[in-house]
Amino acid sequence: MRESSWIRRLQPRSLTTLPTELEQIPLNSAPNGHLKSLSKLKSLLPAGELTFDSAVLPEFAGDKWFAAHQPDAVALPRSTESVCKILQFANRHNIPVTPRGGGYGYVGGCVPVQGGIVLSLERFNRILEISAADFVAVVQAGVNTQKLQNRVEKLGLFYPPDPASKANTQIGGNIATNAGGPRCLKYGVTRDYVLGLEVVQADGTVLRLGGRTHKNKTGFDLHRLFVGSEGLLGVVTEATLKLLPLPPYRACYAGLILLSNWTDSLVQCVARCANCGMCWRAKNRSASKPDSAPGVARRFGLFVENSRMLCAILG
Ligand SMILES: Cc1cc2nc3c(=O)[nH]c(=O)nc-3n(C[C@H](O)[C@H](O)[C@H](O)COP(=O)(O)OP(=O)(O)OC[C@H]3O[C@@H](n4cnc5c(N)ncnc54)[C@H](O)[C@@H]3O)c2cc1C
Repeated sequence: MRESSWIRRLQPRSLTTLPTELEQIPLNSAPNGHLKSLSKLKSLLPAGELTFDSAVLPEFAGDKWFAAHQPDAVALPRSTESVCKILQFANRHNIPVTPRGGGYGYVGGCVPVQGGIVLSLERFNRILEISAADFVAVVQAGVNTQKLQNRVEKLGLFYPPDPASKANTQIGGNIATNAGGPRCLKYGVTRDYVLGLEVVQADGTVLRLGGRTHKNKTGFDLHRLFVGSEGLLGVVTEATLKLLPLPPYRACYAGLILLSNWTDSLVQCVARCANCGMCWRAKNRSASKPDSAPGVARRFGLFVENSRMLCAILG
């Protein structure tokens, strides 16, 4: 069965009454059709911003999941203006566009399953501002997460969202997936640190949403709609992020494991650091039992649970 007719079958009845010319447009037109119009796009962009190089395309086909699909072209824009042109053009010519950050997703979000253009943000890699006075960072979407964290920490500031993949991800990708990490239990996820966004919509219009104040209570929280949207609502090109003061202490996981003798002493350690009801609950559950095999397993489980909590509490 051809894909276009398969997709039509899946549409609800009311949608099948769309004007016939729209209904006839196949969602994934033949690659050669794309290629013809894409070469026109190449001439509209600065040199080197669109490539069909068969050696390059496979690098932008997959993420860390098992699925991959080669795009027809890879766009590597350097400016928001170019992103606008690409999206406007693709919209007019019905060419699928898949935004791509670091390509470190686990769910195929940046895999161009319908071919078309992969729009990589890797050249949007500039940290535009770090303001210690305002506790704000303004970054382009392609800035590497780890790099931003290192830079702000040198200034005594802290950007908490820490997906385990942060050495390879981009801020734009973190925003599009609302990434969390071990610290999210204490500090929250990416959504809690996005103050403002520059976004290019599918028709090429640029939106500037939110602002740079920590206390911003006026109007709709539209920028938050884009956090976790997986690139479906637009391409993030710039972000204004909230920073915190760098905490003076961090949990030293390994040190505490050595210092603590099983769960009870760890729980006491937690309790001294913070008034945490959940830890006391865990302590009561682990009230000294003989060290039978199931007991050890249970205590190890509690040990992990409490260690996690301790890390979350101490950051
Ligand atoms: C080893 C490993 C550990 C991980 N650990 C964690 C973890 O602890 N917590 C967690 O939350 N996730 C984790 N992940 C998943 C993944 O790394 C995150 O989802 C990360 O935020 C993806 O960022 P990226 O830059 O690689 O985005 P990509 O994978 O390139 O893209 C992800 C999605 O965002 C869209 N997108 C990318 N950039 C933009 C943009 N500028 N504008 C609009 N849309 C865009 C893409 O189209 C896609 O839908 C892990 C993955 C791996 C491989």
